[in-house]
Amino acid sequence: MTDARVLVVDDDESVRRSLATALGDAGYEVHEAASAKAMREALADWPPDLLLLDAVLPDANGVELLQELKASANPMPVMMIASRTPDEMTELALGLGAADVVRKPFRPRELVARVQAQLRAHAMLRSTLVALRDAEEELDRVREDSENRRKLVDILHEVTGDLSSDEIYHILSRRVARALALSRCSVILARPGDRVGVVATAFDNPALRNYEINLDAYPEIRAALEHGHPVLVEDLHTSPLYADLRREWAANGTQVPIRSVIALPFTLGKVQAGVFFLRRMVDEPPLTNEDVEFADAVIKAAVAAIHRAQVIETTKADNARLEVLAHTDPLTQVLNRRALTVRLASELERARRYDSVITLLMVDLDHFKMVNDTFGHLVGDEVLREVATLLQNEVRSVDVVARYGGEEFVVVLPETSLVGATTFAERIREHVAATPFATALGEPVRLTASIGVSSYPSTTITTVDDLFARADEALYRAKADGRNKVCL
Ligand code: GH3
Ligand code: MG
Ligand code: MG
Repeated sequence: MTDARVLVVDDDESVRRSLATALGDAGYEVHEAASAKAMREALADWPPDLLLLDAVLPDANGVELLQELKASANPMPVMMIASRTPDEMTELALGLGAADVVRKPFRPRELVARVQAQLRAHAMLRSTLVALRDAEEELDRVREDSENRRKLVDILHEVTGDLSSDEIYHILSRRVARALALSRCSVILARPGDRVGVVATAFDNPALRNYEINLDAYPEIRAALEHGHPVLVEDLHTSPLYADLRREWAANGTQVPIRSVIALPFTLGKVQAGVFFLRRMVDEPPLTNEDVEFADAVIKAAVAAIHRAQVIETTKADNARLEVLAHTDPLTQVLNRRALTVRLASELERARRYDSVITLLMVDLDHFKMVNDTFGHLVGDEVLREVATLLQNEVRSVDVVARYGGEEFVVVLPETSLVGATTFAERIREHVAATPFATALGEPVRLTASIGVSSYPSTTITTVDDLFARADEALYRAKADGRNKVCL
């Protein structure tokens, strides 16, 4: 990606220089700021696509700045630069919405690759969101109307039509976040009793996807999974559910900027799949029971839609597979007799309607019993497969090849008169006779075929059965006449 703007915020001039050089060489436009004050000015004059932010600045704490940036109207991805990275710092920064954390000293190539990855993820997210805006506006309207759940399901179904479940989780978390003015909303996949959950999506920070979180630190998630009901914690700085964790925070000096949380469990099928995890910060109004009700309604409807979409997808795939199986001869993979009959009926109907012609060839291998007797049944099977392939290769795309029975094939030639078809049948006869059919035994098998031909229109042919009967009679004559022949 070129032309993307990157703002580098670090008080260390040598760090700024080397970052600016590496990113400049990779084709990015780079501006630098040495302090929080300079950063704010730069943000106003020259809004960047990505920000590289030092964790420690002379006039501000990078982690607090990160929160400020993430709460802004148009948050861009922020990558933190940390001199040392105790894991708490990484976790805290990622938890607060940092896109990534880079340690000093860094390798320029790796850093550029990480910046690229973040910008790509952000761009993808943005285009998805743009594509969904219309559906979202529609949703906004429906949301007010609590009677109208069914409509909601339909819209969500539309939205979710072609998307993977990952994308659906993402869209939903963002929908709920927007509707309830949340700065944080994610989907955590976990089952009752799990110690670890996996972030399926975090709408404010795509980089957290697949991030594992230790559920010991999330009592509301554990409780929600266990009981299968939504859990609301209006204020985790006073809630008894958080008493133990608050003691830990006090002991470690951890500042927790979150105020309210809702953990909303959802099931797919009958399986408890995870929670939607909604949070508000200390400077935001607390979450309420109405928020729980609304989010629950949206998510229940959506999950039903996801499930339905998944079922429909599976069923469609199964049906398509069964359809093919029902029409195909398992040995030779050409049409089976039943499918041939159906197809021939519609072809004949078409010929009738458009005053067109249609010809049928009945191809019977000569003395095939001897092939089996001489080489065995398995070799016989192999030869039948090869004959089917030979026929398939010989016909046009509008023609139909089918296995009529044991060693008997039928070829249907629409828009082909008796004269043209006879030439074609002759070609097939010669081709079969000239082909050494390769077998697993090594010794090639030689054989011939007799072919009976019938054609519509004709005085004796009005139905599909007539077509078969006349071809069969012609075939009988070919056999009686010494085999390896084409007869009309
Ligand atoms: P003709 O020239 O009169 O047609 O002689 P033929 O031996 O081909 O005819 P017949 O109808 O007497 O025998 C057909 C043979 O085809 C007998 C049967 O074992 C063989 N056959 C039918 N289906 C299969 C199959 O699926 N696999 C194998 N290997 N052989 C088959
Ligand atoms: Mg035969
Ligand atoms: Mg036969």
